[in-house]
Amino acid sequence: MTLIDSHAHLYFADFENDLPDVIDRAKSEGVNKIINIGIDLETSKKSIELAETYESIVASVGIHPNEASSLANDYIDELIAYIKHPRVVAIGEIGLDYFRDHTPREKQLQILYEQLDLALDLNMPIIVHNRNAWTDMLNVLEDTRYKNKLRGVMHCYSGDSIVARRILDLGLYISFTGVITFKNWKAVDVLRSVPIDRLLLETDCPFMAPVPFRGKRCEPVYVKLICEKIASVLDVPFETIAETTTKNSMHLFGF
Ligand SMILES: [Zn+2]
Ligand SMILES: [Zn+2]
Repeated sequence: MTLIDSHAHLYFADFENDLPDVIDRAKSEGVNKIINIGIDLETSKKSIELAETYESIVASVGIHPNEASSLANDYIDELIAYIKHPRVVAIGEIGLDYFRDHTPREKQLQILYEQLDLALDLNMPIIVHNRNAWTDMLNVLEDTRYKNKLRGVMHCYSGDSIVARRILDLGLYISFTGVITFKNWKAVDVLRSVPIDRLLLETDCPFMAPVPFRGKRCEPVYVKLICEKIASVLDVPFETIAETTTKNSMHLFGF
């Protein structure tokens, strides 16, 4: 049995003392593939380095909306060079974050458009982050320039089932983190509204550790707990969720 953690940030200082153990622990529970996600140019480069070092890691590169305020205007050339690296499987995480609002909204939208254009030009899947910006996000993705032309995933999904329907109609996947194991998580209907052939698993580690590790450092092996939770909510066997989400990731990211 194989599990895929489709969203990890293993370059953070949280992992500097024991990364080889973290990766071995993941492997020992069947987590044989981890997509490590950049949030700016520096961490995108680090993600590629990790993917060159560890056989179970592949990289995604991109500029997160919260990291865009001081971005150099010529970032795009460097980003293109990263995207073309053979260990890079996606562009991300990219998106909109009106919750933190670290970057002016106009600038967030500008770099989102630029990176979506890259995804079209270079035929790459996207990994999308969205917080408190559903109206603008749907306006962008449903624009005729992009509508049904993009492949990708809406990560750490926080919307309702009506928005989920529109995301699915665009051909995108939806992924859930350890948040779904929290006591105060109430979106059972949202999870049930997503067909399992459109679901991906992710930890978003070191953040969002599932119960019983809530508040501690999260790591890829915990993707198993998220898989268990989904299996129990949907009342299907664990193996079905593991196999289907693994197949979905392989299909989307081409590995
Ligand atoms: Zn995110
Ligand atoms: Zn993330």
